[in-house]
Amino acid sequence: MPDAKQPRGEFSLIAQYFSTLDKSSDVVLGNGDDGAVLQLKTGEELVVSVDSMLEDVHFPRNSPPADVAYRAVAAAASDLAAMGARPLAMTLALSIPHADDAWLSDIRSGLSDAVSDFDLPLVGGDLTRGALSLSVQVMGAVPSGQAIRRDGARPGDLIYVSGSLGDSAAGLALIEGRLTGDVQAADALRARFWRPFPALDLGVSLRRQATSAIDVSDGLLADLGHIAEASKVCVYVDSALIPLSQALKSVVSTEQALSWALGGGEDYRLCFTLPESVPPPEGSIRIGCVESGSGVRCDAAGEIDGYRHF
Ligand code: ADP
Ligand code: MG
Repeated sequence: MPDAKQPRGEFSLIAQYFSTLDKSSDVVLGNGDDGAVLQLKTGEELVVSVDSMLEDVHFPRNSPPADVAYRAVAAAASDLAAMGARPLAMTLALSIPHADDAWLSDIRSGLSDAVSDFDLPLVGGDLTRGALSLSVQVMGAVPSGQAIRRDGARPGDLIYVSGSLGDSAAGLALIEGRLTGDVQAADALRARFWRPFPALDLGVSLRRQATSAIDVSDGLLADLGHIAEASKVCVYVDSALIPLSQALKSVVSTEQALSWALGGGEDYRLCFTLPESVPPPEGSIRIGCVESGSGVRCDAAGEIDGYRHF
């Protein structure tokens, strides 16, 4: 072990905590050089996305480091799911206020869980001192022309989501002490905030089926607004069809649950459109339909709006 009183240096920290999570058959050259080298298969296109998570903005101060790391990767991986991409690899630009070994071990443990859960080897990154933030860049592959975009929804398509909504917003409220609930429900909801599970397999199965897809990160109605705009259609959401978990319904009123489901965001479920003739994948829930026109129509929209940074 290095002497705790000596400054560690960036390279020793990288070697100890970030350099051995880079193995996969897609990785020709992993961590340690100026760049990583990935192997695409013939006929594949590269899908790239980056997401940042900042302390006090995306998660509260003094959050569990393993969960913070896991969630940062899950959020980024969710964009690959929404594109129908097969995960290839990720890089991590990490800024940390101090190099504490116990804390870094926890970060590594969360990263390691995410690497194996999402098949996303960590092939490179950057480490700087500063306010706590994690920027995760993910790379994925799709057969040429098969990425699922936001601009293909057509009037008559049906709209589906991959699972319950609003749990993550409730989880954050519990974490921040704005809400209480029985232990089991509270644990389940906090887990939905910290350990969202991007629908990567579903995304791949929706290639050449879905006319559009998006992951629910800003709030269902806000995210559907992006599909409406890109596809030049109107999306109609029937609030009675919105899936609410038992855990969520057990801690708040149906009204609050619905408000979080429509506006809360960060559930990282997939929302997608299918022509009426295409049978939906098992487990998906129909929540509305696409119409001609523009914007989002929902019988319960009221004041609900997605999260905006600016
Ligand atoms: P360079 O100076 O060439 O940009 P760095 O000194 O920043 O390289 O990093 C050395 C190696 O360690 C590189 O391969 C880089 O990708 C990797 N690396 C740096 N920080 C991280 C991190 N947080 N997670 C994973 N790999 C990292
Ligand atoms: Mg660097």
